[in-house]
Amino acid sequence: MAKVIDGKAFAEGLRGRIATAVASLKEKHGLTPGLAVVLVGEDPASRVYVANKAKQTVEVGMNSWEHKLPAETPEKDVLALVEKLNNDPAVHGILVQLPLPKHIDSTKVLSAISPAKDVDGFHVVNVGKLSTGQDSLVPCTPTGSVMLAKDVLGSLDGLEAVVIGRSNIVGKPVAQLLLAENCTVTIAHSKTKDLPGVVRRADLVIAAVGRPEMVKGDWLKPGATVIDVGINRIERDGKGKLVGDCDYASCEKVAGAITPVPGGVGPMTIACLLYNTVKAACAAKGIDQPAM
Ligand code: NDP
Repeated sequence: MAKVIDGKAFAEGLRGRIATAVASLKEKHGLTPGLAVVLVGEDPASRVYVANKAKQTVEVGMNSWEHKLPAETPEKDVLALVEKLNNDPAVHGILVQLPLPKHIDSTKVLSAISPAKDVDGFHVVNVGKLSTGQDSLVPCTPTGSVMLAKDVLGSLDGLEAVVIGRSNIVGKPVAQLLLAENCTVTIAHSKTKDLPGVVRRADLVIAAVGRPEMVKGDWLKPGATVIDVGINRIERDGKGKLVGDCDYASCEKVAGAITPVPGGVGPMTIACLLYNTVKAACAAKGIDQPAM
């Protein structure tokens, strides 16, 4: 049976190291990293995410600001708020919670965030820096996924990695990070021919598809490491349940190590957001980032 990769425990450890780093920044440099989150509308899932982000930001000793705007807020007002936060020196990270209401152009809003405060790593400047190997703010879920893979495998040098999914949020940045770790990377998507055959080549599989339990155990090379990014809500036996993009029951029999859903990649996302905020704060102050 596969080793279970405990993302919850890893994320807890990372948050502990971030809290230590924040305490030392306050003491040595009088710097308190601060994260501002903008939520437009009443989407219940987004409300829960934003509340969790704020709670964990405060728990590691950072400043947290929540800007909750009504769903009908005009785009220009959202852009004006982003501009205000860009110019506020106490704010080191800005996160605009997606999805935004339909009348607001999310690309326009995300592009308005200063790249130096773009802790989600979605601004084209940061995307370009990542793809050209320059230091940048990197999207949180991909960073967390690669941290978990490195924790279980050590070096990823020379591994065959297959990323399933090519979104800007997960698939593409995770592929860039794996390339930087010297993996041989294949990016699969909905038009890929013989997906099981492609996946079977992989020492490391990263599934970011959004299709419940799509990847089956008999698609895997025996001993492969599986990082399941998917979070899918399904009904089973009359109850709501969260499952990944991998069929855990069959995959755990073939994989060498696998992330569960929930409790795998999910908890890493906020921990990496806090990490990026500390990184952005240190860069703004022109000081070295403490070890985390
Ligand atoms: P998107 O819907 O943006 O992208 C899905 C990708 O999967 C697309 O590239 C699509 O291909 C590909 N795909 C769809 N169907 C198939 C198929 N049958 N075979 C092969 N590839 C397929 O999703 P995201 O990247 O935003 O998210 C992916 C998953 O990760 C979701 O379950 C999401 O909930 C989860 N997630 C989890 C996070 C966390 O842990 N915190 C954060 C972000 C996402 P094509 O491009 O050809 O359409």
